[in-house]
Amino acid sequence: MSSLLCPSSIAKPGAALFGVQTATGQIEYLDQPIVVDQTFVDKARQGRAPEERFRFASNCAKSGCGHWDSGQSGCSLVGKVVDAMNRKAAETLVACAIRTNCRWYHQEGARACASCDEVVRNVRIQATTV
Ligand code: SF4
Repeated sequence: MSSLLCPSSIAKPGAALFGVQTATGQIEYLDQPIVVDQTFVDKARQGRAPEERFRFASNCAKSGCGHWDSGQSGCSLVGKVVDAMNRKAAETLVACAIRTNCRWYHQEGARACASCDEVVRNVRIQATTV
């Protein structure tokens, strides 16, 4: 199986832009992810942190990430997000272009998607904090 994607990636060349934060703070999911390049990242960094305005996905780093739980062999962050948001899974999932390979969906299913539309990565607190 190809690597699962972390839906809380930083903005970096090669990352897939798959969501944009709207004025109301919700995430609007793109029909197709857009692989961003250095030019996009440089431009985006001229304003508010791009991770706080966009959602990016890139290959799950597994043990290279502070959120990796080697005992569970999975991402510990998504469980925290789901618990904190405490939302029920929707019967109809929001359209999301990365679902097939999304690590969060892979682990938590529809509950992850129910909690996902308000999540942005907070790069000011800590590089890996949502
Ligand atoms: S958790 Fe669901 S909505 Fe969020 S990125 Fe993964 S598949 Fe998309």
